[in-house]
Amino acid sequence: MRILHTPGTFDPITYGHIDIIKRASRVFDEVIIAVGENLLKEPLFTVEERVEMIKRVTQGLKNIKVDSFNELMVNYVQRKKINIVIRGLRMISDFEYEFQMALTNRKLNPNIEIIFLMPNEAYSFLSSKLIKEIALLGADLSEFVPSYVAEKLKRKLK
Ligand code: ADP
Repeated sequence: MRILHTPGTFDPITYGHIDIIKRASRVFDEVIIAVGENLLKEPLFTVEERVEMIKRVTQGLKNIKVDSFNELMVNYVQRKKINIVIRGLRMISDFEYEFQMALTNRKLNPNIEIIFLMPNEAYSFLSSKLIKEIALLGADLSEFVPSYVAEKLKRKLK
């Protein structure tokens, strides 16, 4: 079994995340989407809300599991006996941060391999942060997030 872990804040899940998750689910037997509590980022949605939205919008994909964690990613992965982690790379601007994080995580646990996937270019500019900003100003979100997520965002920001 090739099990893979995709950590992130997912605040909220976007078509960019979904693109990466679909690519990963085609290559690996099982993909665990793990929602990090991430208190430093002060997420808009609670962990429970983020997990619920991911479950809802990925329900058509068979080999996906959704979980949450509130500890060092390397510890979570070790506890779950997974050693492959996938991250998405959008732009060159993601590279520096991801490179630092990958090497830091490798120092913390040398058994973990971190693999990067690139999304379809149509989603390469999407970020949860930007979507929250334009949602606040009442933008049409249909190109960026599933309608279920757009509805949740609208309600949350009211
Ligand atoms: P984090 O807070 O850990 O950066 P995010 O929720 O922002 O988590 O992202 C989780 C993962 O999804 C990261 O690997 C990130 O690079 C990737 N990702 C986010 N948005 C996109 C996108 N538009 N296209 C491809 N990958 C993305």
